[in-house]
Amino acid sequence: MVSPEKKAEGATANQLTEAFGRELSLASRSVHADDYTNSHTAVAPPMHVSTTFRYSENPDELVAWSDVDPQDIDDFFIYSREKSPNTVRFEAILSSLLGGPVVSYASGLAAFHAMVVFLNPKRVAIGGGYHGCHGILKLLNKLNGLEQLELENDEDLAKLQPGDIIHVETPLNPTGEARDLAYYRKKADELGCYLTVDATFAPPPLQDPFRYGVDIIMHSGTKYFGGHSDMLSGVLAIRPDRAPGKDGWLFGLREERLVIGGVLGSFEGWLGVRSLRTLELRVRRQSENTKHLVEWLASQKKAGNNPVSDLVYKIQHSSLQPEAADPDSWLSKQMPNGHGPVFSLWLQSEQHAKRLPSKLLLFHHATSLGGVESLVEWRAMSDSAVDRRLVRVSVGVEGWEDLRDDLLRGLEALSKEVPVAK
Ligand SMILES: *Cc1c(COP(=O)(O)O)cnc(C)c1O
Repeated sequence: MVSPEKKAEGATANQLTEAFGRELSLASRSVHADDYTNSHTAVAPPMHVSTTFRYSENPDELVAWSDVDPQDIDDFFIYSREKSPNTVRFEAILSSLLGGPVVSYASGLAAFHAMVVFLNPKRVAIGGGYHGCHGILKLLNKLNGLEQLELENDEDLAKLQPGDIIHVETPLNPTGEARDLAYYRKKADELGCYLTVDATFAPPPLQDPFRYGVDIIMHSGTKYFGGHSDMLSGVLAIRPDRAPGKDGWLFGLREERLVIGGVLGSFEGWLGVRSLRTLELRVRRQSENTKHLVEWLASQKKAGNNPVSDLVYKIQHSSLQPEAADPDSWLSKQMPNGHGPVFSLWLQSEQHAKRLPSKLLLFHHATSLGGVESLVEWRAMSDSAVDRRLVRVSVGVEGWEDLRDDLLRGLEALSKEVPVAK
């Protein structure tokens, strides 16, 4: 007996492309790329919590785990450490949005860990950026002597050997400034290295690292993919030509995920699908809000004689990098649809940075980013390596004028509490 649950219907992304004679927009694919997994007439995706799945009732149809053809890997479920219906849906949508097969994980760091274990380099060149990834490299150094090299040091880069990793985070935490992927692809090719990118700060539609031949794109899905500050997740997207077959990276990463066990939970997979439906709407709005806010802050700073110019002595964001003004620059090409929704403010003193969050009504004082609600963080709270005058801002989907007025009010109040010596 075949249970009705087993019969999936709905078009795959490829069938949709064929029917329309073109690829559907990102917004449409966010809503429909998983239609082919529909196994029930319910329009809203079901939540499956089962950890285990019935084998075929026909003894002649039983296929042992070790004999499963990688081509058929999606056809049946065995045990949820291998995969589960909710996480498969999440991966189906993201595979379409990111442009390469996606493997999901319990967190961004679980994804980074799985990626380094899979590629198994002797050395990883990595820049500043998200501190947690450095923690994993330290752990691997303890286990097998893996060496960590400094990305922006040419002497260090020259030590890389074939099979090593160049890992680039762009835009970069906490400043929101971008790095040139074409430059690092060229370096990686010269040295025979893999190029991996942490693209968490600029999800689709803001940039497409596969256009630059990146081998694996990593995301902390906790941020924009989740988008509501209520789920941890991590994502690896594999460059399409590296993925297929039994020796391909998709099969390999899944096989290793089964052993490492860092899978995304079923509930998180379900929440993730709900969130991805609005990814494009949210990210565009957050990016536009940020553009307005950063432009306003920069113009106030330039005009002088106001709370912004008194208290903020530096603003960092990819939209303020010199290349952003040139439409033919690497930066404008790499981020054709807008800049990321995170930027940094450097205040006049540590006291100012520490106290600004308490003066704001709409920005919550919390770490993390990517959610619908705007956040600020006195970054010294969670990263001891950054300057103690730095405040990181993650812009949400509120009205930007309200966010502007909140910042203005907050800076005014702060300048009364902690006057700046003039
Ligand atoms: C948050 C974050 C991570 C880690 O992701 P988790 O989901 O918290 O494990 C890695 N890289 C960047 C850029 C991040 O912002």
